[in-house]
Amino acid sequence: MTPTVYAGNWKMHHGPDAARQFARTFTSLVKADDARELWLFAPAVSLGALAEVLRGRPDVRVGAQDVHWEPKGAFTGALSIPLVREVGASGALVGHSERRHLFRETDEEAGRKVQALLEAGMTAMLCVGEQLAEREAGETLSVVRRQLDAGLGALRGADLARLRIAYEPVWAIGTGKVATPDDAAAVHAAIRAELAARDGLAVPILYGGSVNLGNALGLLAREEIDGVLVGGASLDAEKWAELVGIGG
Ligand code: PEP
Repeated sequence: MTPTVYAGNWKMHHGPDAARQFARTFTSLVKADDARELWLFAPAVSLGALAEVLRGRPDVRVGAQDVHWEPKGAFTGALSIPLVREVGASGALVGHSERRHLFRETDEEAGRKVQALLEAGMTAMLCVGEQLAEREAGETLSVVRRQLDAGLGALRGADLARLRIAYEPVWAIGTGKVATPDDAAAVHAAIRAELAARDGLAVPILYGGSVNLGNALGLLAREEIDGVLVGGASLDAEKWAELVGIGG
C-alpha cells in the first residue's frame, strides 16, 4: 500500500525556537507509521533547528519552501539545494502558488528547480493549480497540464521516483474555500493521466487548499487523492498531529 502523504507548509511562520517546540510536541503525539509519509516545509532559518530535534525521527521529513536551481554563485538572497541539504532538508516545494503569483516565478523556473532537486537525489513537491478566473473560463486542465509539462520537462520513469505533485487551486489557498472531493478528484485523474504518459504512475498526488480537520477525511477518502498539503492548519502541533492521525 502506498503511504498517505501529509505535508505541512508553514509559509512565513515559526522561527527556530517555535520549530523546535513544534517538533517536540508533534513527535510526542505522533508515532512513526509506514502508512504515512510526513513532511514539514519550514522557513529556511528554521530548517536546521527542526532537523536537529527530528534527528531520531527520520519518518518526519524536513523540506525547504523554495530553492534555486544553481548549486552556488552570485544569487543574493537565494538558497541552493546543497545549502538546504546541509541543514537537514531532504526536499523542497517547487512553484507554490505564492511563489508563482506574488514573486512572479515562471513555469520554466519551476522546471529547472524540479530537475535540479531530482538530480540531487532530493524530493521535489511540484505545486500546480489554476486561478479563479481560469477555473471560471474552463481552463483548469489546460493550466495544470501546462504547469506539469514545463515543470517536468523531459523527466520520465525512474527520474520521477522522488517527485510529488500537489494540486492546489489558487482560489482555495488560505481562503477557507476548499475544492469539493469530486472537483479535486477530477483534476487529480487528469494529472495521473499526464504522469502515466511519462511512466510515472506511482507519483503521489496531493490536494492542497484550505484543508483542515473537518474536510481532510472526505478528500482522502477519494482514491485519486494520495495526500494533503496544508498551510494554516499545519501551524499548531497538536492540531496537526490530530489531522495526521485521522486515517488511523
Ligand atoms: C498551502 O500553503 O499550500 C496551503 C494549501 O495553504 P492553506 O492550507 O492555508 O490553504
